[in-house]
Amino acid sequence: MSAVHALKLARAAGVRIGIDGDALTLDADAAPPSAVLDLLAHHKAQVIALLRPGGDGWSGEDWRAFFDERAGIAEFDGGLPRDQAEARAFACCATEWLNRNPVRSPPGRCLGCGEAEHSHDPLLPFGTEPTDDAWLHSRCWPAWHASRKAEAVAALAFF
Ligand SMILES: [Zn+2]
Repeated sequence: MSAVHALKLARAAGVRIGIDGDALTLDADAAPPSAVLDLLAHHKAQVIALLRPGGDGWSGEDWRAFFDERAGIAEFDGGLPRDQAEARAFACCATEWLNRNPVRSPPGRCLGCGEAEHSHDPLLPFGTEPTDDAWLHSRCWPAWHASRKAEAVAALAFF
C-alpha cells in the first residue's frame, strides 16, 4: 500500500485533503471509514510530499498525473506495450522537469566548465525556452546535458 493508493482511497471515500505546513487537513461531508484515516496517518509524510508543490510549482501528484497521461497516450494512441509506454512517459517527465527547472549560466561563462568564451569555441545557448539562460561550449554540452538528465531522473524518482 503506497501513499498514492492511500490518497486515492481517501478521495474515493469523499475526503478532501489539503496541507497546512507540516500537517494534513482533512474535510469530509460524512465521517470517512477509520481504515482510510489510518492509512492516511500511516503515510502522512509521503502524502504531504505528494501534495506539496516543489520549487517548479508542481507537486508529486501533478507529476504522477502528467506521467499517467503520457503513458496512456503512448499505450492507447501509440499502440506501445505498457513498459515501453511508461519509459516514454518517463522521458517526457524528464524533459518537462528540465523545462520547469531552468538553469542560468553566470554572465559570459560556460555552464559546463565555468570558463569564458574562447575565440575558437564560442558559447552557444542551450534550449529553446525563453526562460533558459544556459550557455555552453559545444564540447561541454554532452557531459552537461547528461548530468542535467541524471538530475531530472533523480528528482522524479522520488515520486
Ligand atoms: Zn565549457
